[in-house]
Amino acid sequence: MAEDPIYTTAVHAGEDPLRNQGSLSVPVYQSAVFALPDVEQGAAITEGIQPGYSYGRKGNPTQAALEQALCELEGGTAALALSSGMAAINVTLMTLLAPGDHIIASNCLYATTHSLLTEILDPFGISVTQVDATNPENLDSALTDKTRVLLLETPANPTLELIDIPAAVQFAHPNGLKVVMDNTFATPFNQRPLDHGVDVVIHSASKYLGGHGDLIAGGIVSTKEVISQMRWHTNKILGAVIAPLTAWLVLRGIRTLPLRMERHNANALAVARYLEGHPKIKQVLYPGLPSHPQHALAQQQMSGYGGMVAFDVSEVEKGRRLVDQLRLCTLAVSLGNVETLIQHSASMTHASIPREQRLAAGISDGMIRMSVGIERAEDIIADLEQSIAQL
Ligand SMILES: *Cc1c(COP(=O)(O)O)cnc(C)c1O
Repeated sequence: MAEDPIYTTAVHAGEDPLRNQGSLSVPVYQSAVFALPDVEQGAAITEGIQPGYSYGRKGNPTQAALEQALCELEGGTAALALSSGMAAINVTLMTLLAPGDHIIASNCLYATTHSLLTEILDPFGISVTQVDATNPENLDSALTDKTRVLLLETPANPTLELIDIPAAVQFAHPNGLKVVMDNTFATPFNQRPLDHGVDVVIHSASKYLGGHGDLIAGGIVSTKEVISQMRWHTNKILGAVIAPLTAWLVLRGIRTLPLRMERHNANALAVARYLEGHPKIKQVLYPGLPSHPQHALAQQQMSGYGGMVAFDVSEVEKGRRLVDQLRLCTLAVSLGNVETLIQHSASMTHASIPREQRLAAGISDGMIRMSVGIERAEDIIADLEQSIAQL
């Protein structure tokens, strides 16, 4: 089988040495202000009618190189890079929604995205219905004549449940909804939502795209029309601009994204298989395992299954002990680093959610979420082995 063209795209996207004195590495344009050629062109550049740069909040050449790369990786026609993944979600929803509108969202979302819906958008007059979107039938019952957006995340955090992307698009488009998808967990190496008809793809570049746990950034990929509205209107006003050096760091991370993801995928599968064979582990959730309830769907819409693995050690106390006893794997929130990160959801990321609600969302007492790194797989497994043996 031919190799995925993403290996070449990731290495070259956004480079433009002839415009940068031959510099193969895109320079960090550490500038807030840009000189304009003359009054007429200056006005056109400032308004976004003519290409160019005027003031750093609206764009910067290093940021533009990153945006070009994001665009090519996801197969979109335009992209916007921002200061964080949350900024990307905020700018997207504030562009696509107005007070009085309604949004349908999956009930299994990144916790802060959930807070954005309930604590910010809802009080501002945008009503929200959260549904179990793993069953496409639930979407229909949530629809109102004010619904404008369907917000999804697949694989979901932390349960690794999947949402059928083509089915969601088939529901949304005839009803006039835009489909927004957070593709942070999968990355474009494993899943390209725009190819399935999704309208807007969002990333927390703080995770796999940056890849080294040393930056906070976000990105949006969509059409020229949508991105232009975001750049020249919403984010011009909101101001969640990415710093030039951060844009450069994300771009550097992207150069090795396919290599890292290939390794994350392989290591996560090895870890998932090991855990599944262990008598002390109740359940393992990994889309790449045939035992995953939606493995067939994973095979249809993903080209790889990612670095995230969830498993269940049955009890809260065992979950805490398992992560406390590890030596190589680092106890930490976040994901997508080269290092293996691990956390116990019930006592950490989802501790603020009442137990009944947490269980209803599929987050059991003993659920452990692992972001499998790129170390030697047998070293990660040996560390798990010594900790599980003490349970
Ligand atoms: C981390 C994360 C976010 C938020 O991104 P930040 O860069 O931390 O603002 C959004 N969605 C998902 C799935 C994430 O993992």
